[in-house]
Amino acid sequence: MPADAQFAVGSVVFVPDEQQAYLPKRVASCTGLGARTKLTVGPLSGSGGAAVPAKDVADVVDADPLALEGAQDMVKFSNLTEAALLHNLRTRYSRDQIYSAAGAILLSVNPFKQIPGIYTDEVTRRCQEADAKALPDLPPHVYGLSENAYRGMLGEQKQQAILISGESGAGKTEAAKACVKYICARSTGGGGVGGGAKLLRQGSHEEFANPILEAFGNAKTLRNNNSSRFGKWTEIHFDAGGQIRSARSTSYLLERSRVVEHARGERTFHIFYQLCAGATKQQRDALKLPPAGELRYLGQSASLSVPGIDDAADWRAVCAAFSTFQLTDAEQTSLRRAWRPAVGILTLGNLAFDAKEMANADDGSCVSPASQASLKAAAAALDISPLELETALTIKNVGKFPVVAVPQPPEKAAVARDALAKALYGSLFDWIFGRINEKMGAGAGAALGGGNKRTIGLLDIFGFEAFSRNSLEQLLINFANEKLMQYFNIYIFQMEEKECRDEGVACPQLQFADNSAVMVLLEAKPTGLMALIHDEVLVPNASDANLLTKMNEAHRGASMYRQMPRAQGEGFVVLHFAGEVAYAIDDFVAKSRGAVPSELSQLLGTSQLPLRTMSFARHRGGGGARARLGGGGRKVVSVGRQFQESLDSLMGMLHTCSPHFVRCIKPNHHLAPDDFDGAYVMRQLQQMGMVHVVKARKQGFAHRYDFDTFIARYGYLREGVECDA
Ligand code: ATP
Ligand code: MG
Repeated sequence: MPADAQFAVGSVVFVPDEQQAYLPKRVASCTGLGARTKLTVGPLSGSGGAAVPAKDVADVVDADPLALEGAQDMVKFSNLTEAALLHNLRTRYSRDQIYSAAGAILLSVNPFKQIPGIYTDEVTRRCQEADAKALPDLPPHVYGLSENAYRGMLGEQKQQAILISGESGAGKTEAAKACVKYICARSTGGGGVGGGAKLLRQGSHEEFANPILEAFGNAKTLRNNNSSRFGKWTEIHFDAGGQIRSARSTSYLLERSRVVEHARGERTFHIFYQLCAGATKQQRDALKLPPAGELRYLGQSASLSVPGIDDAADWRAVCAAFSTFQLTDAEQTSLRRAWRPAVGILTLGNLAFDAKEMANADDGSCVSPASQASLKAAAAALDISPLELETALTIKNVGKFPVVAVPQPPEKAAVARDALAKALYGSLFDWIFGRINEKMGAGAGAALGGGNKRTIGLLDIFGFEAFSRNSLEQLLINFANEKLMQYFNIYIFQMEEKECRDEGVACPQLQFADNSAVMVLLEAKPTGLMALIHDEVLVPNASDANLLTKMNEAHRGASMYRQMPRAQGEGFVVLHFAGEVAYAIDDFVAKSRGAVPSELSQLLGTSQLPLRTMSFARHRGGGGARARLGGGGRKVVSVGRQFQESLDSLMGMLHTCSPHFVRCIKPNHHLAPDDFDGAYVMRQLQQMGMVHVVKARKQGFAHRYDFDTFIARYGYLREGVECDA
């Protein structure tokens, strides 16, 4: 309702509220117009009322009756406001209806509890059997959305993309699993397909790929006990009859730094705790695995176990998953050997370096005496010589003719140790991903989409992040979110246009609060932030300070960029679509290099372990332009540039797809059931562009009644038209 209109006494309005963003209230009295409006409101049932503060009156809106009821599709509201959107979700959530629709967008509010009956065969059957007319009217559900994607894939002959977004703990991964489960069930039997497809059809993807991927890629964080620390694009390929032929996953930005450090109350990757808790005595002895409490990378003993997580049982599930995988004997052997790098990483973490040692040692090595056992254990696990490992960690070869061996101070040796641990884990993760893809029947190096139009892809990717301290990882994650927001904006705009076309009305000029200014800041060449970060890695005197100076010079006065106030440290601020984020510049260059010293990558090349079959071999073996793991004069591709390239190829492919959006919402910070924090939910609606969709709608045809409702409500204005309203 316009701000200068009066509210009818007895009508229901949404009133701003500090904790709940908006609450429905009944109008007790209302006088005056516009800025002079005096409004008192009371509870929906009962009497009494309190004055609405003058500052809030302009934001009071008429409540749409459908929002009060908790309607399943919010596009049907005649008065679509952000308050109505929020309240509708709240009403449905209180009834355990976690899914709502906003046209083609599915909103999902995490219940943090199992709701009986929502993922049953009966729901599957209902979606599968609904005809084209009935499907949109079924209660909103990820199964319905998956059915739509499946029909689109068959009928439109176009790739379909299910794009799942939301912040950490909002339920993205669970939603993605539900979609895959539905699609596997939907694609029923049939002959002539390979083992991977059979496994998928039988729903084995759930059984084996997920426990493995979650063990290696997920960790307990403060936001989610099972947080995915990587982004994932999974494609399922079908034949002309709608049968699954193969599947393939691509990972994005594994948070490798978690191997060597994690915040208090968090953990490193699940697999390490599973290995320590679940391996049999025999396995532990064979692997020479020290007790968990002695392993520094596992963190404080307080964080070793998590209520609700049974690491030993999860270990058994991972081992069982590997068996379900139908691996050949050779593959099983190679996989078992993959535990050795995991042990190597853990024991590496116990290596300490000491300046005093360096002064005493002939060769300047600074490995402390207490660490000698760890050095031997790490070297044994990695199948390399302990002496060579020690040398590679503590001595740097400088110059070419002659090569000068320069002992490294303890801090640098520790950085090299951590870089090695991160790179090893990254390789192990890639290797596991590769094995799963092979088993799923997809060629290892196939392009995204594989050129097959009969494909459904699912994107489960980290949401926008704004912590008290943000670094390169957050910039990359937020860059990905900006790209997806841009894609979402284009889609919404096209949808509005299509609806106008279908209705035979001229499309109004829609002003999108788009994010093109921030996209220019981030990706313009040659001075966008991503380009500057990449270029800094290439210059000989690269430093964080130089990078910041270049950024400040290039973007001084830009609307989306600010220098970070000195009091907060050295860094810069980006005004993202979803909000402002201050990035600390420390370690940007080192993280962007992401490289292991060349001495170490050469040494690992001598190992007989699966390390050689992991990506070390790939990266070392020339052939490609990449040099992720070392120097050696090959072309350097920074972490940011690699990510940007993989994101570009993903976006390029998405632009050829029909998208289906799932927006996941976390109802509260403390992961509790039956607790709806309105202000927190509203912030997420804003960040994911839902409020923006509402605003765009208001500029065009804000009120959209179907014909019957319109006649019922306004028919009396025309003589001779019957109406019973
Ligand atoms: P992250 O970005 O950290 O990976 P996420 O968005 O993938 O987070 P999930 O791991 O899917 O979040 O969900 C977090 C937790 O919420 C789950 O472990 C589960 O306990 C609960 N949950 C999510 N969706 C549902 C659901 N539909 N029904 C019941 N519980 C759910
Ligand atoms: Mg997840």
